Amino acid sequence: MNKRLGIVFVVLVILCVILWDRTRESVRSQGGSQAPVDAIEDVIGAGSVEAETSSTLEAIAEILRELPGDRVPGRTGHAEARAMIGRRLGASGVEHEEVSIEWPYAPEKTVRNLVARLGSGAPEADVFVVSAHYDGVARSPGADDNGAAVAVLLLLADRLAGRAAEAEIRLIWFDAEEAGLVGSIGYVGALSAAERRRIRGVINLECIGFTDRRAGRQSLPFGVKLVFDPGDVGDFLLVASNVASRPFQQRVVSGLEPFERAGVFRVEEFGFIPGEGLVLPDIRRSDHAPFWDASIPAVMLTDTANFRNPNYHARSDTLETLDLPFVAATLDGLEAVLVDLARVGSR
Ligand SMILES: [Zn+2]
Repeated sequence: MNKRLGIVFVVLVILCVILWDRTRESVRSQGGSQAPVDAIEDVIGAGSVEAETSSTLEAIAEILRELPGDRVPGRTGHAEARAMIGRRLGASGVEHEEVSIEWPYAPEKTVRNLVARLGSGAPEADVFVVSAHYDGVARSPGADDNGAAVAVLLLLADRLAGRAAEAEIRLIWFDAEEAGLVGSIGYVGALSAAERRRIRGVINLECIGFTDRRAGRQSLPFGVKLVFDPGDVGDFLLVASNVASRPFQQRVVSGLEPFERAGVFRVEEFGFIPGEGLVLPDIRRSDHAPFWDASIPAVMLTDTANFRNPNYHARSDTLETLDLPFVAATLDGLEAVLVDLARVGSR
């Protein structure tokens, strides 16, 4: 295809997907909708919901207080963070393995991903991956980047430990994301074709802990507003995918939406980036990108990082700045998503 035709084709594809998306959205909003959280409260009582939420908030905060800052590979915070994840998994009765990848630029010439497998242990079972990264940038506590996600993954492990499922749930704490997605690129690169085929979807948790509910506090990458406008209030969790991952994205979004709650948690979806997302480099800035490159469905959950959070990569990225009820809603929503995807049995 010549270059000009190619560009016209890409623009047409994007327009078609947007139109399709708008139509589907309006069909969905015409259907009767109720506040699903009310339904949950009706079933187990509002008091229990509050008590459950406050113990979840405390559990998230406890992990973030324990997680060391300055998690640059080679520094003590990095090794201590890895040890802390292993220790907490052990306390939840969840086994894990360290999957090492050779990387000559790392201080120890190797990066170490941590992998925990839950649900089905059958070698042919479908696999759903949920990932976060435990490394960080220098001098930052990294509570939003990526501490909140590390905590959510640990609490998911605790909630799903010992429960039977039809599929495998693979929780991965990637190393060296900040160094250029080194841990995830190495991990995907080492998978056989058969192992790649088993992975039916990846949910990568980017920064997921910061909100700013004042008007004018949310921005977006240049030009994105032309096709996607979630408003200028930084109060939503974005579920971003490429076009090929749209069906998987829809299952994730519909699992999270029942946990939407005014003033606490809102979900937005963005999914009309073609191919591997090369037209919008900002959308490739985390560990889902290597999975896109391997044609594996993947979504990124994000608070949009520096497009909302002024503490991004700074000393001020602390626990005190996070919106813990927002993180707790994400955790509850993800548990529901995984129960649905992997057909997890009851406790
Ligand atoms: Zn970062």
